[in-house]
Amino acid sequence: MSTSGLDADLTAEIDLAATLFDSLRDRSRSRLGVTRASYGEGEQMAHDLMSQLGETLDLERRIDAAGNLYLTLPGRDRSLPVIMTGSHLDSVPEGGNYDGAAGVVAGMATLARWRRAGRQPHRDITVMGVRAEELSWFPAPYIGSRAAFGLLEPEALDACRRPDTGKTLAEHMVLAGFAPDRIRAGEAQIAVDRVHCFLELHIEQGPVLVQRALPVGIVTGIRGNLRYRHCHIAGRYGHAGAEPRESRQDALLAGVDFIHRLESLWLEHERDGKDLVCTVGQFHTDTAVHTMTKIPGELWFTMDLRSEDNDVLLAIDRRLRIHADEISQQRRVRMDLGDYTNALPGPIDPAHLQRLTQLAKTLGIPAMTMASGAGHDAAVFGNRGIPTAMIFIRNEHGSHNPDEAMEMADFAQGLKLLVAAVEDIDAAL
Ligand SMILES: [Zn+2]
Repeated sequence: MSTSGLDADLTAEIDLAATLFDSLRDRSRSRLGVTRASYGEGEQMAHDLMSQLGETLDLERRIDAAGNLYLTLPGRDRSLPVIMTGSHLDSVPEGGNYDGAAGVVAGMATLARWRRAGRQPHRDITVMGVRAEELSWFPAPYIGSRAAFGLLEPEALDACRRPDTGKTLAEHMVLAGFAPDRIRAGEAQIAVDRVHCFLELHIEQGPVLVQRALPVGIVTGIRGNLRYRHCHIAGRYGHAGAEPRESRQDALLAGVDFIHRLESLWLEHERDGKDLVCTVGQFHTDTAVHTMTKIPGELWFTMDLRSEDNDVLLAIDRRLRIHADEISQQRRVRMDLGDYTNALPGPIDPAHLQRLTQLAKTLGIPAMTMASGAGHDAAVFGNRGIPTAMIFIRNEHGSHNPDEAMEMADFAQGLKLLVAAVEDIDAAL
């Protein structure tokens, strides 16, 4: 494992990254934070900024039919599959400056490091600026990266409208100069067998690294989810004073019983070391009918269950349905969990995970392994069978808000790891 080459001194690249972050912030500043709408002005500005730097660094540029940007440092053997790194350049409305952008900036800094060293890699190294990752603008996940693999469902192009403009995704793509018809036809913009690996650096969107006082996280898996939007319990309304306990059909108590059982399952998984997080985000009676003196006759709730392991999710679904049947019998209600949607977890390549862990140790970068609770473009690459890995950077106050606070010193640690990983992968020819 070589760690002696490009990682030695990154001062110039950290300065470059700081300048890029400042430019991005200055040019997409909005009322409270930054706003870089998918297929909008802010996102385009970010793509243009990276393109300009690509020109300065004499990189090859390609823009695909969906508007994804690829900036490539040519390797000595152009026939080899490429090392790819990058992330998305859009942001939520009034978001922070780092969610997404940090990964593209880190990729550009990595290429700048190769250029400054005057060295040429064996393989091409490509930085990808992904379009439209944030769901706030168009309600379809991973638009840019799925379009890149020809996986975006055609309906998304016409059914998804940006709330601020009322225009469809296809209309916005055309306005920005891209070719939605090629995406509609399922034309792949990236050939899977041309990508050696995909590495995505991203700010952590939760508090774990802050809590553990560590600058860097190495991702073990990107959690998939089971989402239940229409869980329903039908009981019977009754008088709060007159109805004896035995004859009640209290939908709310049935719901509470169920949620307790869900939490017990969660704790059991935690004890067994299995990755799982559970959220009941909505839990309500009927506001038009309920009142303080009535036994609740109906209840609705949602569930969002996430795990790195889809088998864990499917197994817990089976057990929850057994619990629902039991509760229905015991409490004389009809409990229906309804349908779920299943987003597959994003697999992380074990060899790359091991490489990042080992490099962090060798380079003295304080780091921990952790699951990614949020979805990322890397999940799309991983699910296409491309060996994929992710580096998290500590970030205070979470993301998707103007208070994202990534320290450049932490970014520097993550960049050091990315630069070393890319070099090591390239050397392992
Ligand atoms: Zn992001």
